[in-house]
Parts: sequence; C-alpha cells; structure tokens
Amino acid sequence: LGDANMTGSQSMMAPTPTNDALPRRFSDFETLGEALDYAAQGVRGLNFHDARGNLARPYPFSELRADAIACAHRLIAHGVKPQDRVALVAETGADFAQLFFGIVYAGAWPVPLPLPTSFGGKESYIDQLNVQLTSCDPMLFLFPKELEEMAGEAGRQRSVESIAFEDFIARGVVPAELPQARGDEVCYLQYSSGSTRFPHGVAVTHHALLSNLAAHSHGMQVQESDRCISWLPWYHDMGLVGCFLSVVANQVSTDYMKTEDFARRPLAWLDLISRNEGTSISYSPTFGYDICARRMSSQTKAADRFDLSRWRLAGNGADMIRPDVMQSFVDAFADAGFSPKAFLPSYGLAEATLAVTIMPPGEGIIVELVEETDLSGGDATEGRPQRFRSIVNCGKPARDMIVEIRDEDGAPLGERQIGKVWTTGPSLMVGYFRDQEATDACMVDGWLDTGDMGYLSDGYLYIVGRAKDMIIINGKNHWPQDIEWAVEQLPGFKQGDIAAFAITTPGGEEAPAVLVHCRTSDNDERTRLRDQIRERVRAITGMNCVVELVPPRTLPRTSSGKLSRSKARNLYLTGEIRPYDIAA
Ligand code: ATP
Ligand code: MG
Repeated sequence: LGDANMTGSQSMMAPTPTNDALPRRFSDFETLGEALDYAAQGVRGLNFHDARGNLARPYPFSELRADAIACAHRLIAHGVKPQDRVALVAETGADFAQLFFGIVYAGAWPVPLPLPTSFGGKESYIDQLNVQLTSCDPMLFLFPKELEEMAGEAGRQRSVESIAFEDFIARGVVPAELPQARGDEVCYLQYSSGSTRFPHGVAVTHHALLSNLAAHSHGMQVQESDRCISWLPWYHDMGLVGCFLSVVANQVSTDYMKTEDFARRPLAWLDLISRNEGTSISYSPTFGYDICARRMSSQTKAADRFDLSRWRLAGNGADMIRPDVMQSFVDAFADAGFSPKAFLPSYGLAEATLAVTIMPPGEGIIVELVEETDLSGGDATEGRPQRFRSIVNCGKPARDMIVEIRDEDGAPLGERQIGKVWTTGPSLMVGYFRDQEATDACMVDGWLDTGDMGYLSDGYLYIVGRAKDMIIINGKNHWPQDIEWAVEQLPGFKQGDIAAFAITTPGGEEAPAVLVHCRTSDNDERTRLRDQIRERVRAITGMNCVVELVPPRTLPRTSSGKLSRSKARNLYLTGEIRPYDIAA
C-alpha cells in the first residue's frame, strides 16, 4: 500500500477554481458545441493524471475549445463533411478530447472506439475494430500513435484512411467556415457494450445528449463545489457521457486517470478523491468498488491513507449493483470518512444516451428481498426453503424520462409486477446507425424496450436482470446471477469468476451450465470444487447443473468490463473455451 507519493503529488493537483465569475449553467444548451463555447469562458477544465497520480496535463476548457476549433478546420480542409463519421480510438487524454469536439464543430459525427483490453489478444482487437469500422463506415479513422500497428492494420483491412492523432494534430490549420449545428441533428455515435450481442452504434442527437445531461445533473443536484474524478473509459457511455461530455456541459473540473492505471493501482482512484479539497462526484460499476475493497488489507487502516469524507456522490450503474460488494466497500473505507449515503445507484443504457433512472442523493442503496420464486414466475417449490434475492433500487426516472413495466405482449403491468422495462423521453436514440431492423426490434411508437426486466415500486425502479440472459428450464425462469452469486459465496471465488447460461445436454435436455475460473492444477482438488459447485447450485435452484472448470481469465468481458454470458456460451459451445478435463 505504501506506493502513493502523496505529499509529493498533493501540490501537483490543480486547485479547484474558486474565483470563477462565470455564472454556472447546467446543460441548458442547444448543441454540444455551444456547451463548450460557454465553458471555455471560465477557468475550469480537465486534468489528466499520469500513472503515478501526478497531474500530467491540466487542460482548461478554453484550451480544449481553441484546440478543437483548430481540429475542425483541419478536418474540413481534409474533406470531412457534415454527417461524415470519423472513428477515433477513445484514449483518455487531451488528443481524443480535442478531436472529439473538433469533429462535432465540423458537423461530422465522432464515433469512439475501444482501446485494446488485457483480455482478448491483438487479433481479436483488430477484428473488433474491423466490425465497428464496417458498421459506422467512417471517412477517417484516428488513433493514438502507440496503437498504429493494430489500429492501422484494421484501417487498412477496411480501406479506411487512417491517421495517428499526433500526426493529424500536427498539421497546419487552414481557416474554414464552421457549419451551424442544430439541436435535432445527430451529435455522435456511441457503441453499446456488447454484453448480449456485438456492440451496436447508437445515434445520439444534440438534444438527446443535452436533455440527458440536464436530467442527470438535475438528479445529482450538481453543486458549485463539485469536482468529478474518473478512471472510466471514454468508449463506454458512462465514461464518455457521464464523465466527459457532462463535465463540459456543467462546467465541472475533472481529474482523470487512465483505465489501465486504475487496473494496475485501483486505490490510486481513491487517492485522487482524497486529494480533492471540494466535494467529489465519482462513478464506477460495482466491480470497481469490489477491486478497491479487496485491495485494502484488513490490517491497514484506510484512514491512514485516504480521506473520503467529501465524496458526495459515489455513483454506481452499468451493471447489476451488488449490495454485498457495496457493503464490503463501506466496511473497508468507513474509517476514512466514506459515507454509505454517498452511494448513488442509477440505471441506464446507450440507447437512452446514458441515464434512465437515478437515485435522489442521500438515500444510498436501498435493497428489497424478493422471493426467488416470484422472480422466476413460478410457485414456491415444496420442501425447499424459501430463498430471497436482494434487488437494488435504481432510483426514479430521470427528469423528462418515463418508465413503464410491460408484459411479453406489451401490455402495461401494475405496481411491483415484474416485467420488461420500457422507457420513453427526449434522450432516446434516433436509432442504431444504418440498422433499421435492430432499431425496429426495440423501438415501438416512440418507446424503447430496454431488454431488461424489473419492477416499479412507489415510483422507484428495481432491476432484476437482462431478459436475454434468463435461463429457461422446463418453462421456468431462472436468473444466471442467482446461480453465479451462489457459487461466489464459496471460498476462493470472486465476482467475475463465474458465468451461467442454458445449454442443451447431449441427451437433448435443457440444463443450466456454469463456467468457473479454477486456479488449482490438482485433479483431486478440481474434482472436489466441481462437486461442491454442483451441490451448491442444486441446493439453490433445485436443478442439476453442468459445471465446467476453466482456466483463469478465460471468461469474456466487454470492453467496458462486463461479463458477457452469451459470448461465454458461444465460446464454450464452439470449443474455444476449453474446460479442464476432470476425472469422474
Ligand atoms: P449490448 O446492448 O451491446 O448487449 P449492454 O446492454 O451492456 O450491451 P450498455 O448500453 O453499455 O450495453 O449497458 C446498458 C445495460 O447495462 C442495461 O441495459 C442493463 O442491462 C445494464 N445496467 C445498467 N445499469 C444497471 C443497473 N443499475 N442495474 C443492473 N443492470 C444495469
Ligand atoms: Mg444493451
């Protein structure tokens, strides 16, 4: 733990500006360009930190705007026209920031693409870029120079003109007239995470974006003293919209660390929060809180290193919120001043720009215990003790958004009835880019079928799981997370080690299967683990389950770090995930 050069870096932190005479405006702009025009008049801005936590580059909004306008001129000189797509690898940093806004000022549509992840090799990264480049059909593809080999290769394969950020930004500027954007025009394309299928390119208008940002900042009750701290990747909506575009539209100074630096030293995230003298807003899916709680050793006092007392909003969303994990985070960091009331659950998806529901600040995590039999739509099985699952309250619909629960046929359901979550409001996407069929499959009469299941209680939304992930055996529904979380309770396993889905057994029967990361090479030990897991699943669900132990790190994750059960299933069925042979 003793790695933080805290005293050395403390003075390197950009001070939260206090003498900014610019009246604060919260996301009430017509276009994203206008939002930056406004923010550029003040003294706030973005701050990029290096791997050691030192401030590497302060980037005031004024400088970002000047650089972005120069990029817009370069893009126009290069032949980029309104509505052209410009794909760019979303590396957290000043280059991406100025290019993203430059593309917007040029009237073209930026399309953020993922960085390579530590899981999945070079080939799979090139393949992913390839498919995304095909689907967004850009006139130009930009990437950081250090990725030239991989990104350049993908660009070549798709015959898309490909240029490194650094080379493009070094070009001379030929002044050109910038087009006047309108609020109802598309602002950018955002890929969904790819948890259930290959990522889809969501077309978001300026209006949709700004209305979602306004709803979001209204829901968070953004204050003058707030500063945002983030390690979230900018190719995912939570990072791009929630921690980059929103801070521009709300003039909130922000400290960034790269996602890869967070992965290496997660607690450096909490160092950044500790060093902020004002109030902090910082978001993470559950797994970020999990990693930090695990990294704290029980012998170390969090108070010796951190001061989390000014962490006003600790946002959580993007994936199932795990109350047990959040509790372990509280246990680890309460003595450093962290308040569980800071937790701010929210629910959203790329198709609705970002947020659909958000918890009112100060309420923290509210959990309901729901009988599993209710969740699966069946009757209580006799002779088996009742089991409950904790379902997290994800808050109320964000301003101007409406949420409805409907049955399979689209008929509205009542209070506390579990069904499909539908939503409508000004922040819905226009549709998936050039994919009318997929758009029609989820957008009906101005409403979006989110693909998630949940229920409403007293105006609050509770998310139960994804409809596509549901395991249906003998006509009865089971939730994969019930199986996964049960296995996780066994010693030696952690979040992300288990994926559950349905398969057809060689005998032609539907059965649940779980793939579980296994860290032992001892055959007897593996046999014991497999039997223990099988027993556990039987006790929890009453079903016989196919248990396969697989090498660590083989379960596929999306670029935003979510487990992809459907991909795990495919890889398993095609033999690309090879379970260990275990003697019977
Ligand atoms: P794809 O649509 O490409 O398969 P994805 O749905 O994971 O991937 P995103 O739009 O990034 O892509 O994520 C939105 C999804 O994340 C939601 O539909 C929901 O399944 C899940 N999610 C978001 N917030 C929550 C939450 N608070 N609780 C549970 N799940 C959540
Ligand atoms: Mg989705």
